[in-house]
Amino acid sequence: MRKILITSLSVFLFSVSVIHSQESDGLEKEPTKANQTEIWEPRIPVVNINKTSGIPSDAIVLFDGSNIEEWVSSSDANTPAPWIINGDGSMTVKNKSGNIQTKKSFGSMQLHIEWRSPAEIQGKNQSRGNSGVFLQKLYEVQVLDNNDNDTYVNGQVGSIYKWSIPLAMASSPTGEWNSYDIIYHAPLFEKGYKTKSGTVTVLHNGVLILDHHEILGSTEYIGWPKNKPHGKLPLMLQDHGDNSRVSYRNIWVREID
Ligand code: MG
Repeated sequence: MRKILITSLSVFLFSVSVIHSQESDGLEKEPTKANQTEIWEPRIPVVNINKTSGIPSDAIVLFDGSNIEEWVSSSDANTPAPWIINGDGSMTVKNKSGNIQTKKSFGSMQLHIEWRSPAEIQGKNQSRGNSGVFLQKLYEVQVLDNNDNDTYVNGQVGSIYKWSIPLAMASSPTGEWNSYDIIYHAPLFEKGYKTKSGTVTVLHNGVLILDHHEILGSTEYIGWPKNKPHGKLPLMLQDHGDNSRVSYRNIWVREID
């Protein structure tokens, strides 16, 4: 995709240079014909949407309910993901079995994921239906049953845990499915230092809750965010322990780079 963007940029710059070649007396001449500002090549890729699943044709499907083979235990990459596969196309956190992560590693991505808090309410504050979508295993988009359940706003559902406050709380009723659509740009590192922060845009049930938000660093329960250099890393889902019991379904990724 980057190659396409670079090629498109090259064509655009070439087109601009053609326009600039028409300069006279130091002033730029505005194009006088419509086709002077048209770009026709290269053609952009066609993406088809599956009418049944809604999944784009160029997506990497990470979970469709049929198996959990794309996932492993985060504590041991040789151990299959120990979560519960349900009969309805979803999987559920098996409490205290640990986090799970994808076998594949990712950088920047478009991610679609659906989640559901347990209908049977247990616990309160951060102990009610807590899980999380960890981008590159480091940056948590919080999953929490926040309905009639107060907590600190930088740790509520849809936050980048501890470091960003979402613009809105758009949760479905407890026990019903939510969707996150996430556009994530990974941070850049050079010579051991971060040279560009990662950013994240999140739509919760179609509502914009994080708008190209700068990620300050890794999610830390205690302490400041860290910025240890890294490359591509797996996507991770959190087992928060007691009263997590969160379910997930329909997970797919489109790689941006
Ligand atoms: Mg969490």
